[in-house]
Amino acid sequence: MIITLDGPAGSGKSTVARKVAARLQIAYLDTGAMYRAVAWKCLQESVDLADHDGIIEIVRESRISLDCGPTHTRVMMDGQDISEAIRSMETNQATSFIAREPAVRRVLVEQQRRLGAELGSLVSEGRDQGSVVFPHADAKFVLDADIEKRAERRFHEMCADGIDLTFEQVLENLRLRDGNDQCQWAPLLEPGQAIIIDTSKLRIDEVVEILLEHVKTACNH
Ligand code: C5P
Repeated sequence: MIITLDGPAGSGKSTVARKVAARLQIAYLDTGAMYRAVAWKCLQESVDLADHDGIIEIVRESRISLDCGPTHTRVMMDGQDISEAIRSMETNQATSFIAREPAVRRVLVEQQRRLGAELGSLVSEGRDQGSVVFPHADAKFVLDADIEKRAERRFHEMCADGIDLTFEQVLENLRLRDGNDQCQWAPLLEPGQAIIIDTSKLRIDEVVEILLEHVKTACNH
């Protein structure tokens, strides 16, 4: 069974995807972590974010591996654990730039499909999982929320991780990412047949229950 969960930053999709995967005892795939890993390496190697060829070389030569457990995602780049490093604000910003690069998307989409084929069953979250990567998924969801609510969630997460930022900085970063993510290379589409859920006024556990209910119905058809 393949379940896709797409939506903007701060919509709650990572937490919900993890919880749904844990309840169904299937794998969880955090595709944002793959884009972040490429961006992190571009920053490490001082590749200009406007240098198409430089970025393409980075993605082609990179060995990204993911360990997506129910409570964590460990991300390895060329054997180095970069799980924490990819969550920095600098990497956040760089990621939405490199994610616009079609060649980067082609390589990562192919890796995601391969992982899906190997795992058989998974909850995959990102921006294009239901529309591009797994168009034949058994259940597709799009989560959304007001930008202020999303910024508030991200702000709390970052405070908990000890990242020193103001609410306004987080809000501004989300606005920038929303703008970049809606460009033609990374369409934040509502995939056909996706169930769209506005999480602004819902608790995470409520969203999880709604999703599981829909998955149960999809399984019975
Ligand atoms: O989901 P997360 O916030 O970790 O994603 C980081 C960035 O990676 C997004 O803002 C987006 O630019 C990019 N991304 C993407 N396609 C995906 C997953 C993430 O373009 N499937």
